[in-house]
Amino acid sequence: MSNRRNLYLYHKKDPEMLSKAENLYDLAERYGFTIVKEPRDANIITSIGGDGTFLQAVRKTGFRDDCLYAGISTGSNLSMYCDFQIEDTSKMIEAASSTSDQQQIEVRRYPVIEVRVDGQTTFECLNEFSLRSAIIKTLVVDVFIDELHFETFRGDGLIVATPTGSTAYNKSVSGSIVDPLLPCMQVSEIASVNNNRYRTLGASFILSNDRNLTLKVASDGNDHPTMGMDNEALSIRHVERVDIKLSEKRIKTIKLKDNSFWEKVKRTFL
Ligand code: NAP
Ligand code: MN
Repeated sequence: MSNRRNLYLYHKKDPEMLSKAENLYDLAERYGFTIVKEPRDANIITSIGGDGTFLQAVRKTGFRDDCLYAGISTGSNLSMYCDFQIEDTSKMIEAASSTSDQQQIEVRRYPVIEVRVDGQTTFECLNEFSLRSAIIKTLVVDVFIDELHFETFRGDGLIVATPTGSTAYNKSVSGSIVDPLLPCMQVSEIASVNNNRYRTLGASFILSNDRNLTLKVASDGNDHPTMGMDNEALSIRHVERVDIKLSEKRIKTIKLKDNSFWEKVKRTFL
């Protein structure tokens, strides 16, 4: 693309958000960006909202790896995917005015997981894939790492998180926080049954980007689990097998100075 400053702004279209965003449209044009109507014409895609909006922006624009994504937070705080705060336009101007040779900004590359359901449809996830019982009965899942039958899980469900997703759902079930510089995926349990008949590892485990994870759902009356891709659910349906691996794709975002992943973790949680 010849014009490297084609910008698409992703946000809700309600009057409150439109009035908040108005200022940003003006600012962008003043700093030499061209606002485009279609995300496919953009080389910078910016979400305005929270982390949830950023996840939606990436999903609705097809997990592009040939553009930069950026998040602008409308809340009072920055969040894990939002490096900018809507009131703090000076930071945005600084980023927009700096050229790469000034080394003001770097590009981060976030790992993404690729999920294949019943050998057919493939989905990508930036936070996590979750498989959960949709009924009160436990869900039984055979977990394979490559060809190895690793364990039979019985409980509420499993979460397979990316490094950037490790601070979200994964963290709520005591998974580890993983540095996004490590291309890997983390498998965490949601309320596993552990007794003399059923045994799972009982700890989260982290797989390298060379591994394939397969989840086979037992067909014992609970084979319509809820499948979550970040903040979107697949409509409840029969599922037998889910294959998960790290995608070749990376989601690129702008990294400002003094805003490393661990600075964000500290700012958000400590
Ligand atoms: P939501 O229910 O509003 O999200 C829950 C919270 O998670 C929000 O505060 C959201 O931030 C935050 N969040 C999202 N991604 C994060 C990340 N990578 N690191 C740290 N916090 C993060 O729904 P949502 O905003 O659409 O977000 C979807 C995510 O919620 C899912 O991908 C899943 O990770 C998470 N979730 C968590 C639980 C749980 O912890 N029990 C259950 C279901 C889903 P914002 O307010 O900035 O959007
Ligand atoms: Mn949210």
